[in-house]
Amino acid sequence: MRFSKMLIPTLKETPADAEAVSHILMLRAGYVRQLTAGLYIYLPLGLRVIEKISKILREEMNAIGAQEITMPVLHPSEVWQQTGRWYEIGEEMFRLKDRGSRDMCLGMTHEEIIAWLAAREIRSYRELPQIWYQIQIKLRDEARPKSGVIRTREFLMKDSYSLDADEKGLERSYQLHAEAYHKIFSRCGLKFYMVESDPGMMGGATAHEFMAPSPAGEDEFTMCDGCGYAANIELALSIPKEVEAKNWILEEVYTPEKRTVQEVSDFLQLDPEYFIKSILLISDKDPVLALVRGDQELHEKKLNRIIGKHRQAHKEEVKEILGVEAGFIGPMGHRLKIIADACLKEGVYVSGANKPHYHAKGIRPGKEFTAEWNDIHVVKEGDSCPKCNAPLRVERAIEVGNIFMLGTKYSIPMRAFYLDKNGQERPIIMGSYGIGPARIAAAAIEQNNDRDGIIWPKSIAPFDVELLPLNIRDSKTVEIAEKIYKGLTEEGIEVLMDDRDERAGVKFKDADLIGIPTQIIIGEKNLKEGLIEIKDRKTKEAVKVGFREVVEKILQSQIQAETGRAYLKS
Ligand code: ATP
Ligand code: MG
Repeated sequence: MRFSKMLIPTLKETPADAEAVSHILMLRAGYVRQLTAGLYIYLPLGLRVIEKISKILREEMNAIGAQEITMPVLHPSEVWQQTGRWYEIGEEMFRLKDRGSRDMCLGMTHEEIIAWLAAREIRSYRELPQIWYQIQIKLRDEARPKSGVIRTREFLMKDSYSLDADEKGLERSYQLHAEAYHKIFSRCGLKFYMVESDPGMMGGATAHEFMAPSPAGEDEFTMCDGCGYAANIELALSIPKEVEAKNWILEEVYTPEKRTVQEVSDFLQLDPEYFIKSILLISDKDPVLALVRGDQELHEKKLNRIIGKHRQAHKEEVKEILGVEAGFIGPMGHRLKIIADACLKEGVYVSGANKPHYHAKGIRPGKEFTAEWNDIHVVKEGDSCPKCNAPLRVERAIEVGNIFMLGTKYSIPMRAFYLDKNGQERPIIMGSYGIGPARIAAAAIEQNNDRDGIIWPKSIAPFDVELLPLNIRDSKTVEIAEKIYKGLTEEGIEVLMDDRDERAGVKFKDADLIGIPTQIIIGEKNLKEGLIEIKDRKTKEAVKVGFREVVEKILQSQIQAETGRAYLKS
């Protein structure tokens, strides 16, 4: 392709409202434009990247025997009502009415439609297992669309669904997907981890996410280098560092106006880990007192799984329910239910004395109060692994894909049943598996860039090679450039030729910004000696080669590189 004929609107300045590196670079290098919040136009270069990724997705899905279909984006409300998600999902779902006033919605995901289809097309165990997939638009009215294409309101997803006769079958389909996902993300050149995750609105028991470490990510996960334990912070377990037990005897200490752990810790000159934070929560049922160590944070989601929906009590409610002013509450002497973080089982602590301006020092959990013990703290860097005790790391990441064991959550309400060997009707066991191509592209940029721009992994770059005839007013330059362009194209190499009548500096800048992995530079001076330069975008190393050898050299490097493309020179 010729640069002069393509829409590649590069920008010199950093766009004002972009923060994530991938967002800035996709805008600056002319890959995307934002129509409005969370809605993006993919320009030619951007679309080529998405198509490269989609090709890898198709190859790896087909390799595990998955069959491609496409399902509508517009759904009748009935199927969503049948599983109950019509009522459970709130504003994230785009809803509308058709001309006959029938309720419709835009598909956020397709479990319902798959189960609807399976209910009609699968009759017998002989037709199982099946894996069906599509690469299709999803629409979600995200609360905070941000970071460019990482969180948009309309996005492409590769979603696949497995249908099995039993749990064993589901485990096999799940494993097949986990392996395919490892291949997909490796082929896309990403650094990634597979981590345990919270099944959330999908339901089901087991789920994993694929996390690409990046500061632009909205997720955090913890990782143990000792045993490989890896989990999303939303559910990760850990053992906080041990604290030496003091031999204090129980006493009340005067702490005037000192309410927060930090204030009391400064005042008493004791580290926060010697404190118990008591937090009063209002749930649908009775109020609950949650306790975490002073240096830990209460994990709302973990607690959610134990007591259900809840919120923190207001000051007035604390006074009313516990009879103490907020800031001085402690775990002793209350009748209400107490849930304490498991690490508090050991040790001797300071906490509120249930008396204004006093704290109690020398509290021994289990003796001074009883509680239900549970892991309810947020994992921190340096905590110990719950499996092997090695130190844990915490990293920020972009969730690029996930896999869920769904079980019968959708098949039962949608009546997706099959007849087993004995002619007995059984629900199909389902799994669901998603990948966002836009997030792969963004994560690849986040992980591969420098001051000058994007450095694409070869496998998903919009072109294999950028050809840079520096002075197109020089007829020899143009002649050689056209020859190389033709030679490479005939060999199946995808070439972007910067045939613009621009200064060399402008061409170099744009080439580095756009990030095509290999540059071929045709300059007049080198050409006089019959040479041209092949430059690596990443290392910036350049080698001079005779112009007749260029095509051969590029072909060799293409074959050597793990591009994963089906291309092989015969
Ligand atoms: P998140 O927790 O980030 O909202 P999710 O759990 O809602 O993601 P799924 O519904 O499981 O994601 O979607 C599968 C994949 O689709 C995700 O792993 C991600 O790659 C992609 N994806 C999800 N939501 C978006 C979005 N708003 N914009 C772009 N890609 C998305
Ligand atoms: Mg989401």
